[in-house]
Amino acid sequence: MSVASNSAETARPYPFPVDILYHGSRARPQIALTFDACPRKERPEFSTEIVNYLQQEHLPATFFVSGLWAEHCQEGIQRLAEAPYFEIGLHGYHHWKSSELTEQVIASEIESTRSAIVQLGCKPQPFFRPPYGDCPPKLIKVAKELGVLTVMWDVVSGDPNPRNTADILERRVLTLTRNGSVIIMHVNNGGIWTAQAPPAIVAGLRERGFQFVSVGQLLKHFDEK
Ligand SMILES: [Zn+2]
Repeated sequence: MSVASNSAETARPYPFPVDILYHGSRARPQIALTFDACPRKERPEFSTEIVNYLQQEHLPATFFVSGLWAEHCQEGIQRLAEAPYFEIGLHGYHHWKSSELTEQVIASEIESTRSAIVQLGCKPQPFFRPPYGDCPPKLIKVAKELGVLTVMWDVVSGDPNPRNTADILERRVLTLTRNGSVIIMHVNNGGIWTAQAPPAIVAGLRERGFQFVSVGQLLKHFDEK
């Protein structure tokens, strides 16, 4: 795949069944764990505990990475690129709110994140998670023109809130998850409890018979009724 450095590139083919993904098929017990890597005001950080745990369990997961985060946390993105069952998606270069941007700047946020990740030797998937979940129609339009799927979620773990302990995160996720769910958490150590939550969440979801897949795999069965 070529990397666009300007908006002159012609539209990419759009291979996805929807313009915006909130969840996969409700007929199949597959769910996707997703983790955002947002740049923080201080040094961007990386939760090695989460990735160690996911790798120990061979759990597929999709990581939405901001360009700034990737450039400042190269050991982090290299870890994400190590496991064949991990996917790296795009989370904007600067982590700006799309509704405050022009279409041109939105396109440049998507493309510059993609090229930052490629420059670091990693292979991003054409998935974009809007920073702050800010998802105006102009974003969906631009992403589609670039051949990129906008990926939201239907299960908010609430992990950035320091009052949400690991027990609260676990209860929330176990209560809200259904067939096809896309669960959002963070891998940039923004929350206090995030790193401690995944083992109990995964155990509870496994007990209920869910299978963990990447966003790409979830899309394969999107239309199944
Ligand atoms: Zn973010």
